[in-house]
Amino acid sequence: MAKYVLAADYTLMTDFRNVPLATFFSCLPTDYWHSRLVFRILANPPALNDQGQPIRVPYGLRKIEASLVQAHGRDSVVIADPRNVERYIDDETEVVGLHSMDPLGLGPVSMSFTMGGVLTPYTKAMFLDLVKRVQRPNRKYKIVLGGPGGWHFDCRPDMQETLGIDHIVHGEVDHLVPEILDRVIRGDAPPVMRFTNATAPTVDQIPKILGPTMHAMNEVMRGCGRGCEFCEVTLRRPRYFPFEYIGDEIAVNANDGQSSIQLQSDDIFLYQLENWKTMEPNADAVKDLFRFVMAQPGVSHCYPTHGTVSAAVTNPELIEDITQIVGGRPDKWIGIQSGIETGSPALSRAVLHRKAAPFSAEEWPDLVVRGTEILNRNYWYPAYTIILGLPGETPEDAWMTVDLIDRMEQIPGGHFITAPLTFVPIGVLRGEEFYNLDEMVDEARFNVAYRAWRHILLEVDQHLWQITEMPAPMKALVVATARLGGRYISSIMHRYARTKGFRIRAPATNRRQAEGHTVSFPAA
Ligand code: SF4
Repeated sequence: MAKYVLAADYTLMTDFRNVPLATFFSCLPTDYWHSRLVFRILANPPALNDQGQPIRVPYGLRKIEASLVQAHGRDSVVIADPRNVERYIDDETEVVGLHSMDPLGLGPVSMSFTMGGVLTPYTKAMFLDLVKRVQRPNRKYKIVLGGPGGWHFDCRPDMQETLGIDHIVHGEVDHLVPEILDRVIRGDAPPVMRFTNATAPTVDQIPKILGPTMHAMNEVMRGCGRGCEFCEVTLRRPRYFPFEYIGDEIAVNANDGQSSIQLQSDDIFLYQLENWKTMEPNADAVKDLFRFVMAQPGVSHCYPTHGTVSAAVTNPELIEDITQIVGGRPDKWIGIQSGIETGSPALSRAVLHRKAAPFSAEEWPDLVVRGTEILNRNYWYPAYTIILGLPGETPEDAWMTVDLIDRMEQIPGGHFITAPLTFVPIGVLRGEEFYNLDEMVDEARFNVAYRAWRHILLEVDQHLWQITEMPAPMKALVVATARLGGRYISSIMHRYARTKGFRIRAPATNRRQAEGHTVSFPAA
């Protein structure tokens, strides 16, 4: 069939019916019937082409495909449907390449949803299913794993042999894939290969995608530079893709009928950054980028994957201008993922480094509140992450994060979600201890997780209907399922609090209303 067979597990191949933020549900536990029902309804099967291959594929896997096609020709590479990947492997196959994101369920969202790994998330279950399918007795082909989830095997080194994975590749290797796999085929590649910044590709060494990507993702930059200690991205050298490159890749997705383009960016507001001292956005370059994307044939909307909230406070006009460019309005919000991580000024100073720049690290909680208000005022919908158990975090730090959620909930007309994640030791903190939620949680950390989930549930109840675009009957089913999933997670948490004897602190809005006060918004 093909010399190179590439695949990713099912959770990376479903688009979750394009429900905003539903990709979080790929980390639901497989252990209970409620979560199985939610997953079954939300995680629709991938669309297939005439040959039965997935049409939309994770962006990273498309890069590997492009690199191999460039070196060996179109017929040498196939991307398989994970549900029957074994069908694509035959005597001609020399390498099966697996793209991974959360292969062993150690990622922060999975660790949070599974009580620190006590339960099994779908990401892990589906990955194990994929690996099982590509095994054969006395096989001659090699199994090679890459992608952002490779670090899981550093934490669980015995799993590589247990699962029969011959080689694991770490690092940015878009341009080195053919050479690496030649070595694998010749039998002179080590079981684990690590590539550092020193060999990372320049933009012109990164091949362009050849087919549509999941969620119409197109990359516009790599690397960040704000220096958060728990983050792998910050270790990468910043690079920016030029318009001609971006335009060619967008055309691939637009030709597939995808009109809303997701711009892969580690911090979109740092695109073409010039002032590394203050980290103030290069506003003209950022606006030109959005203008360019919106001018591409077939594109009606675009939004970035990631951006830092301090940029909104630094330059509120930039947010206003981008909203106008992409057509944000009360019924068309612009999604963005962003990290809050902590509400503690001291921890911000210790771990987040330049995330608040050009402001001081200690101003971080205020920046988050002001930035959220600015984003919301301009119809931006931030999906925030909060990290439980950062090294050095005290219960007082955790209560400050609870206070921060309280303050954000008082923003009039405010909309955001807060996903509580447990600390995983990556970035420069590699080697630190995992935060095991089940063993290490205390009342303060529990309240952070509880309040974050409670807020998500409020948003699902009040806002999911407006921001979900699909025919009404399916929308009703999906929204009801998401509400069921949210309540299910909430009920697990109440049960958990009772078992541990934790008190749940009432939100400030409830406390103040109970005391007869009106709710006021903190000064911007
Ligand atoms: S701002 Fe985001 S991408 Fe940049 S280093 Fe911090 S966590 Fe990583």
